[in-house]
Amino acid sequence: MPSSPTYDVIVAGLGAMGSATAYQLARRGRRVLGLDRFTPPHTRGSTHGHTRIIRTAYWDDPSYVPLVGRAYESWRELEAASGQRLLFPAGALYLGGTDSALVAGARTSVQLHGIPYEELSAAGVIRHAPALQPTPDTVAIWEPEAGLVLPELAVTSFLSLAARSGADIHVEEPLLQWTPTGDGVAVTTPRGTYHADRLVLAVGPWMSQLVPDLGVALTVERQVMHWFRPKATVPGLAPDRVPSFMWEYEPGHIWYSTPDMGDGLKAGIHHDGDTTAPDTVQRDVSDSDIARVSSLIERFIPDANPAPVASAVCLYTDTPDGHFVIDSHPRHPAVLIASPCSGHGFKFAPLIGEIMADLAVDGHTSIDLSLFRIARSGRPLPTAH
Ligand SMILES: Cc1cc2nc3c(=O)[nH]c(=O)nc-3n(C[C@H](O)[C@H](O)[C@H](O)COP(=O)(O)OP(=O)(O)OC[C@H]3O[C@@H](n4cnc5c(N)ncnc54)[C@H](O)[C@@H]3O)c2cc1C
Repeated sequence: MPSSPTYDVIVAGLGAMGSATAYQLARRGRRVLGLDRFTPPHTRGSTHGHTRIIRTAYWDDPSYVPLVGRAYESWRELEAASGQRLLFPAGALYLGGTDSALVAGARTSVQLHGIPYEELSAAGVIRHAPALQPTPDTVAIWEPEAGLVLPELAVTSFLSLAARSGADIHVEEPLLQWTPTGDGVAVTTPRGTYHADRLVLAVGPWMSQLVPDLGVALTVERQVMHWFRPKATVPGLAPDRVPSFMWEYEPGHIWYSTPDMGDGLKAGIHHDGDTTAPDTVQRDVSDSDIARVSSLIERFIPDANPAPVASAVCLYTDTPDGHFVIDSHPRHPAVLIASPCSGHGFKFAPLIGEIMADLAVDGHTSIDLSLFRIARSGRPLPTAH
């Protein structure tokens, strides 16, 4: 290997955001090196578990709605380029009590942006989702155009398209150190040192290890997903009986589910997880992890067997206000930071790839990033954490 290969851009981290960025850069004819410490897609970061929700009824903050529209376009382009079906429109429910911040937020987003929706009472919920058992005071917003996207297949698609467009993809090769060099960056790995004009850091839960002085406090949060099968005596848990949902089951506490795509219905609690670190996180799933979600299954989806058939630990990388970090490094403009998580970033992955490629190549993008700058005004998301 030459001692000092030179690239236009090095992308460190090839999960959702890094693989998308490597693809976008390579298709624009840039010399790209993609590095990952593992072999993506893998189960140690934030991008596993078979399904993710893509939703426009953005209860968290209506400013994300136009971005979701752009993300849908990017998903369709990725499907066309890869020949893979990645996006499954199946509808989603946003549920809670009459004073639920989640339901109010979803209503605000759909009304503000003219998104098709239906306002439901508990009886209306049962019509849309006969396997759910809402309490009589439950209200909901039904968004028929929400859908599912497939995280592992997306990463595989991004990486194979990137390699096909000429990117060098090095797996099992961690970035150990990055050093600014004039107007570029030197990157050291166990295999050598590489130089590039730009470095994109998309290392997910490992970000604060590589950028301890980012200027936004990132917290890694342990999240557990579980898969459930129907009880033997019921008609099943297909999407027309339990669509995707996000449900504020107690004020400020949200659980979610994505439909059975052949491996069981997936459910988990959004946030409320232990603060952890990616190298030391408890990867085993405990009885109390299971009990927390099984009790919600017993309460709200009695047709499901409350003993999960599988469980997996995943990681959120949270900012204090729940908004993403997409910016250049505060002191080193050749280093770009892509940290869109706080538990809601995956739906934007192909669009983030375009944005990071714009920033790396042109120094700017047409997307308004003011919410995601390191030095932002700090408007918090309403019900996070
Ligand atoms: C349980 C769960 C459910 C979620 N549900 C949704 C949802 O329904 N909708 C939604 O939009 N979002 C959802 N999210 C959020 C979404 O999945 C994340 O925003 C997204 O996956 C983050 O991707 P990433 O590329 O930043 O991180 P990752 O995919 O973790 O990628 C980081 C990569 O960096 C690599 N790396 C780390 N250190 C180094 C190094 N030193 N050198 C080289 N490589 C390195 C890692 O190996 C990894 O591959 C969910 C997340 C979880 C955990």
